Amino acid sequence: MVHENSPVKTPSCSLCNEPAVYHDKKTGRHFCRDHFIADVEGRVADTIRSRNLIVPGDHVAIALSGGKDSTALLMILARLLPSWDTVRLTAVTIDEGIAGYREDTIHSADQMAAKYRLCHTCVSFLELFGGTLDAFLKGCEPEACSVCGILRRKALNVGAERVGATRLATGHNLDDEAQSVFMNVLRGDLPRLVRDSGSDSKGMFIPRIKPLMFISEKEIAVYLMLHGAWADLPECPYAVHALRREVRGMLATLESKHPGTMLHLMESKAKIEAHCSGVLDTEPVRHCRECNDPCSGETCQLCQLKGRLGI
Ligand code: SF4
Repeated sequence: MVHENSPVKTPSCSLCNEPAVYHDKKTGRHFCRDHFIADVEGRVADTIRSRNLIVPGDHVAIALSGGKDSTALLMILARLLPSWDTVRLTAVTIDEGIAGYREDTIHSADQMAAKYRLCHTCVSFLELFGGTLDAFLKGCEPEACSVCGILRRKALNVGAERVGATRLATGHNLDDEAQSVFMNVLRGDLPRLVRDSGSDSKGMFIPRIKPLMFISEKEIAVYLMLHGAWADLPECPYAVHALRREVRGMLATLESKHPGTMLHLMESKAKIEAHCSGVLDTEPVRHCRECNDPCSGETCQLCQLKGRLGI
């Protein structure tokens, strides 16, 4: 028991007697440095194994933006790699062309790829679409994230194809996934809610995997700090326009007051997926009449956007 004026006692790790560095509010467990790192890496390995995200012989392209999530993803996959002797990792970075933001994160991505001795490929919007995101968004900044998302999806596919990857791993974390569930519910977009689960358009695109989908943003931050890899990088200037930013704040508050909220959202999504899978399986995947990429309508989102932006 702690008495008045007595020094505050640092809790011990729930698994050993070392001082704790992290408290998991949902389970009530405390973790020391080593057990925290082992717990995070073990949960990522479990996610990969239980969902067959990576199989022997895979060549995994890591979508490395240079931000904290993709940096943690690279570190964790590189540390797990010795246990998968036939798996290969490559880093792919997309340069959207966002002045005052991308330079620093691309530099950080370069350093991380070099540190872990990974081949590193960069694909730019300028090279693929003939202009930067900054140029495309003149006068329509509030649409930044939807425009960026469509163009980046294509750029990542091109990058993954160029390096001959069989999987494309992104750094989406638990917070991102829970936010996407909530945003799709707010938009009333049930098909997208289910489609967001990493669909690969029936084998027509390189399958996307999200090994950090059950690791929270806070856990990623602590993981990076414990490895001395935390970097205070600038935020994308267009993030202020994003609905995601508002949802992020709401969910962070709810998670803090009611630990487990984000995991419960993911569980809800899984139940909705299970109920809707039969319906969604009947939806035909077509080919875009402009570019032949798989899509659900006559013309894919990218070609519609190109027409609108005059690309
Ligand atoms: Fe693109 Fe929006 Fe992310 Fe900026 S915040 S990189 S515009 S998706």
